Amino acid sequence: MDTETKSLDFVRQIVADDMKSGKWDGRVCTRFPPEPNGFLHIGHAKSICLNFGIAEENGGLYNLRFDDTNPIKEEEQYVKSIIEDINWLGYNWEDRLFFASDYFEQMYDYAVQLIKAGKAYVCDLAPEQIREYRGTLTAPGKNSPNRDRAADENLDLFERMRKGEFPDGARTLRAKIDMASPNVNLRDPIMYRILHANHHRTGDKWCIYPMYDWAHGLGDSVERITHSICTLEFENHRPLYDWFLDALGIHHSQQIEFARLELNYTVMSKRKLLALVKDGRVLGWDDPRMPTLSGLRRRGFPPESIRNFCADIGVAKFNSVIDVGRLENAAREHLNKASPRVMAVLRPLRVVIENFPEEQVEELDAVNNPEDPAAGKRKVPFSRVLYIERGDFLEDPPKKFFRLAPGREVRLRYAFFITCREAVKDADGEIVELRCTYDPATRGGNAPDGRKVKATLHWVAAEQALDIEVRLYDRLFTDPHPDHAGHEKDYKEFLNPESLESIPAAKVEPSVKGAKPGTRYQFERLGYFCVDPDSMNDKLVFNRTVSLKDTWAKIAKKR
Ligand code: ATP
Ligand code: MG
Repeated sequence: MDTETKSLDFVRQIVADDMKSGKWDGRVCTRFPPEPNGFLHIGHAKSICLNFGIAEENGGLYNLRFDDTNPIKEEEQYVKSIIEDINWLGYNWEDRLFFASDYFEQMYDYAVQLIKAGKAYVCDLAPEQIREYRGTLTAPGKNSPNRDRAADENLDLFERMRKGEFPDGARTLRAKIDMASPNVNLRDPIMYRILHANHHRTGDKWCIYPMYDWAHGLGDSVERITHSICTLEFENHRPLYDWFLDALGIHHSQQIEFARLELNYTVMSKRKLLALVKDGRVLGWDDPRMPTLSGLRRRGFPPESIRNFCADIGVAKFNSVIDVGRLENAAREHLNKASPRVMAVLRPLRVVIENFPEEQVEELDAVNNPEDPAAGKRKVPFSRVLYIERGDFLEDPPKKFFRLAPGREVRLRYAFFITCREAVKDADGEIVELRCTYDPATRGGNAPDGRKVKATLHWVAAEQALDIEVRLYDRLFTDPHPDHAGHEKDYKEFLNPESLESIPAAKVEPSVKGAKPGTRYQFERLGYFCVDPDSMNDKLVFNRTVSLKDTWAKIAKKR
């Protein structure tokens, strides 16, 4: 085995073996089959990267197929957002955008085929009775009284179901398999239900809708999918998909199950995410605290970092929880290389340079990105009144505080050494201004006499700086496993009340003026930030994507 084969995950290994044996005539075709009933989250990204990645790596094709079989929960806005999110991740399915609803007619014909073959029947039991007749994991089920209905009668009833002659729930079409099967999924599962509901694509054309288990494998088959990759909970459904496809004698994709992504400090179920949105616990599906792709995008995560994260966590056959810190680290790694640096001050403290002439402005050179020499330099203005970070000054500093204090000299990044002469206080004793002097000989940040300072501070020039709003985020939940069974509490009780901190009056250097939503920067010493769509022409809003270091790891170590 060469090293490349060795490092393949088990799904890729199966595909590689199939390519070698010629099982699918050298063809690879995968799909991602979202239900348009919510926005995509980071777990879906794992599935997308796996499905589409495998096709790309093998010179194959991938389809985007909406599994739109449940008109009650599905909406056009979700279709739109899903398409936008997958495009953003960097995948292009060309003309292979499909909808399960495109196959409704074909599926109906397949159902008729099964009825004719005596493998499906119309059942008159009410939904509760069907559940009752199903049995349990330990007890076998009971046959429906309609199980042995003649094919002709079934055909007639099924047609009338389609025509709308019966009310919702009055009848179902069921597969005739085995009510005593140890696999509950095989106990005459429902294929069609009656539902007089408007569908976002087919309108009122249909009043019977295929069940997911019936529709899913058929979609794969119609599209001649080779490897139908899905999450572990469908393992028990595979025998049913196999049964349907074999009974119909049509193209049979190979289903492969992998472990779904679980991240700590968040919830990933669409139902729970929807509840957070509906109950106003977050500002929307794209709230930067949400694990949705639109939330991560708005927060500033680059698509590359999400793909890198998905590659990094790998694919396995057993469930495990991934630390959200790994996702944040993937963002840091990419942003460190890709983000231009600028200086911003979140909590401004006014500094007056007493020996710097009023009205004078010096334009100083600042490096745009030390990781990327091609990014070049920019000018930052320096003037008599500046802002530094409030937290960078202490009147009475403890031993290990090396930043500014009375009488102490520090470097202002890309500018000069300054020395603090005096802290001016208001009537309440709060520091409102520092009086400092600068050493003109230290222009650029170095002293010709070789003297050193222990700290370098970021700063902005007061008059030239732009007013900005900055939003800092913390984890949405305080508990690493907010929705684990076993908790007595509801996951909503673990919502972190401090997950959003808005700083309305921060300052940034003028070079970012006019930056468009989605533009990313590193604010020196503060983290990676991204312009939010809430920005107005004259007031930019920035989201902090991540801090520069994993502060949570530090806290964990200290404990
Ligand atoms: P629902 O409960 O609405 O079915 P879902 O998360 O399964 O929610 P789908 O739209 O059916 O949503 O998912 C599309 C695909 O994404 C499925 O093939 C599913 O297996 C996969 N998927 C969903 N969640 C995860 C996850 N956390 N990790 C990996 N793959 C996932
Ligand atoms: Mg699903």
